[in-house]
Amino acid sequence: MEKATRNTTSEKEGSMTDQYVGGIEAGGTKFVCAVGTGPDDVRAEVRFPTTTPDETIGRVLTFFREQEERFGAPAAIGIASFGPLDPDPASPTFGYITSTPKPHWANVDLAGAIRSALGVPIRFDTDVNIAGLGEWRWGAAQGLDNFIYLTIGTGIGGGVLIDGKPVHGLIHPELGHIPVPHDWTVDPYRGRCPYHGDCFEGMAAGPAIGERWGRPAVELAPDHPAWELEAHYLALALHAFICTLSPKRIILGGGVMEQPQLFPLVRRKVLEHLNGYVRSPAILTGIDSYIVPPELGNRAGVLGAFAQAQQVVVGQ
Ligand code: ADP
Ligand code: ZN
Repeated sequence: MEKATRNTTSEKEGSMTDQYVGGIEAGGTKFVCAVGTGPDDVRAEVRFPTTTPDETIGRVLTFFREQEERFGAPAAIGIASFGPLDPDPASPTFGYITSTPKPHWANVDLAGAIRSALGVPIRFDTDVNIAGLGEWRWGAAQGLDNFIYLTIGTGIGGGVLIDGKPVHGLIHPELGHIPVPHDWTVDPYRGRCPYHGDCFEGMAAGPAIGERWGRPAVELAPDHPAWELEAHYLALALHAFICTLSPKRIILGGGVMEQPQLFPLVRRKVLEHLNGYVRSPAILTGIDSYIVPPELGNRAGVLGAFAQAQQVVVGQ
């Protein structure tokens, strides 16, 4: 893949921010905690299933206390969390997971519990914003001042990063919940988003594929018609994001994108949908390096959390 050259700003930031920090990827099914300075210096890492908040946060604290004894206190800890959540430091509910349907986890002050127990500065943002930040710092988005990162997994989420900063706004973008055109004659499946039925996530997340075709997505053969339809929905959504956000690259991660045949299908359909309208060479001739998998793979979240913590250290 053609790789963007790192710009001088990020090189300067890189040398300034290789500090020893902590990172937490707080997922709906598992937590990953680590300490270190970057991809080549992860000094300790642990993964465990997400259970109740008390038990899960207890395991987080145990890990960081052990690492503090070995390596000293980290300069800061970044948390890349499932949501919806409150990422606004000025809000009374900053650091909370807010309206999640996940049992026990609605209105949990995840960042506050960790900050008050460990006494180090905390950054808190969505898993996808922070996975995007990891890709910007060390992966497929180095040097890019505008790109998006999407995960297509149990749900669909997206992060929008401008100059290495995740976009917030009222709360944070919800790229998985945009409406997508639904032709009921071609696809009579009703969708499974509890809020919107047939929104993008409702039609194209892994569990929707499984429910539509009557067996788990992972068991469907590479030439199954499911993938053509999946690529169709992905391309519809990417068409919307390209026209609204004008991203310079689109990174597609998550379990569903483990199906490598999806990438060429999605690229072809995006070109068809755009129909030559967006006249950037990045799209017209460079689509193979425009819609790409993450370079950090499934470590984008926890490494992004390092980058997030390192931004605290330099006061960004
Ligand atoms: P999560 O979204 O829970 O953090 P993943 O990104 O791994 O985790 O997504 C898990 C979902 O992705 C599963 O529910 C399944 O539907 C789908 N999935 C996982 N692996 C594959 C695969 N190899 N092929 C297709 N779909 C997959
Ligand atoms: Zn929805």
